[in-house]
Amino acid sequence: MNKPVSPTTFEPTPNNLEPFWMGFTPNRAFKQKPRLIARAKDMHYFDLKGRAILDGSAGLWCSNAGHCRDPIVKAIQQSAAELDFAPTFQYGHPKVFELASRITTMAPDDLNYAFFCNSGSEAADSALKIALAYHRARGEGTRTRLIGRERGYHGVNFGGISVGGMVANRKWFGAMLAGVDHLPHTYNRKEQAFTRGEPTWGAHLAEDLERLVTLHDASTIAAVIVEPMAGSTGVLPPPKGYLKKLREICTKHGILLIFDEVITGFGRLGHAYAAERFGVTPDLLTFAKGVTSGTVPMGGVLARQGIYDTFMKGDEHVIELFHGYTYTGHPMAAAAGVATMDVYRDEKLFENAKALEETWADAAFSLRGNPLVEDIRTMGLVAAVDLKPIEGKPGLRAYKAMENAFHEFGFLIRITADTIALSPPLIINKNQIEEIFMDKMPKVLASVAGL
Ligand code: PLP
Repeated sequence: MNKPVSPTTFEPTPNNLEPFWMGFTPNRAFKQKPRLIARAKDMHYFDLKGRAILDGSAGLWCSNAGHCRDPIVKAIQQSAAELDFAPTFQYGHPKVFELASRITTMAPDDLNYAFFCNSGSEAADSALKIALAYHRARGEGTRTRLIGRERGYHGVNFGGISVGGMVANRKWFGAMLAGVDHLPHTYNRKEQAFTRGEPTWGAHLAEDLERLVTLHDASTIAAVIVEPMAGSTGVLPPPKGYLKKLREICTKHGILLIFDEVITGFGRLGHAYAAERFGVTPDLLTFAKGVTSGTVPMGGVLARQGIYDTFMKGDEHVIELFHGYTYTGHPMAAAAGVATMDVYRDEKLFENAKALEETWADAAFSLRGNPLVEDIRTMGLVAAVDLKPIEGKPGLRAYKAMENAFHEFGFLIRITADTIALSPPLIINKNQIEEIFMDKMPKVLASVAGL
C-alpha cells in the first residue's frame, strides 16, 4: 500500500534508526544496540557523548591519512564553493587531470592512464569491461571469459560478485555473469598458520590457471582478477612467488592480469601500490578508498600504455570507450584526491607504514598463545586475528568482540566471520600500536572468552 502523501509524511523523525536499511549489517541487532559515530579526528572517532574510539580499521580500510585532516578538509571546502560539478564526458576540469597525473606517476612501469569512477565496486566492473573491450578492439572478441578467485572480494556489483568468491555475497543473487571461472584461494591453515608476511607455501596454486586455460582455451579468456593481498575475506597475504607466477601464465596466454588494489593501494602495504611491493605489474589496477582517504567517494582503474593505445584508433571524433559515470572525476573527489596525495607525500605516510611494519607484526603476534586465537596473519599495516568460533554459531564470537570493543573499550574493529581484521590509519604511531595489541585487543578477547 502506498503511504499517504501529505506535507507531514516528509517530516523526518529525529533519532529514528528504523528507516535506514543498513547493508552488510544485522539491522535488528544494530538497532537494538547501535554503534553511532558523531565525529572524527586523526586516529579517533567520537561517539555522540564525545567518548573517543580508537580507529583500528581506518573506517572501512579507507581513511589512510587519518580523519578530518585539515589540508583535505580545506580542499573539499574550496572545491564545493568553486566548482560544484563539471561533466567529464566531452568536457573536463583541471583537478581530475592533476589527480590522474599524480596517481599514475606513483604507479610502476607504464600504468600511465587513470579512469575514474565512484567506488571500488564500480572500479572492478570498469576494469572487467575495459578488459573485454580491449580484446574486442584488437580483434580477439572471443576472449570473453573472466577468471576470479575463491574468497576474492571485488565489491558488490554484478561483475564484481561474479568474479568474487565470497559465498554469502553471491548465493543470494542468481546466476550473475556467464562465462566466469575461479582459481582456488591461497589459504591453508595447516601449512601457513601464524605466518608474518608472505607464506612460503602456496605459490603452486597459481598453476591452476594453466588448468583453466586447458579447460577453456586461452582464446576464450579475457582476464584474471585478484587482490594482491585478499582483504575482506579475512586478510590472506599472497604466497611467496604466487603473483609472479600468475603474471607469467597470463603473459604466456595473452590474458590480462587485473590487480584489485582497492585496499592495498595508497600505502596500506608500505608502498603506493602492492604491485610495487611485489614487483609484479598488472595490466589493469583498480583503486578506491585511500585515493581520497575515504573523504569523498571515488574509485578508478589504472591502465597500461598498450591498453590505452589499443583504443586510440579510428576517427578522432569518435568516442573510444563507451563507459563512464556522471560522477566520474567529480571535482570534489578530485580535489580531495590531490590534497590526499599531498598529505601522503608531505607526511611520508607510505614510508611510515613500511617503517612500522615489523613493530606492528611483533605487537600482533603477542596475541599468539591466547586460547581463543587460531591464527594471526600480518602484512604492511594489516593484521588478521582468527578467533575460535562458538560451536553452532559461526561469527557470533567476533560479532560480540566488535560490540564490546566499541561499547566497553573505545575501539573500532572490522570483522568477517570470526576474523578480526585490523588496518589503522597510516598516521599511527608506536604507542597506538601498543595500545591496540597490549591493551585493547587483550581486553576484547577476554570479554568474549566465556562465550
Ligand atoms: N575491491 C576490494 C578489494 C575491496 O576491498 C572493496 C571494498 O572493501 C571493493 C572492491 C568494493 O569497494 P566499494 O565498497 O567502494 O564498492
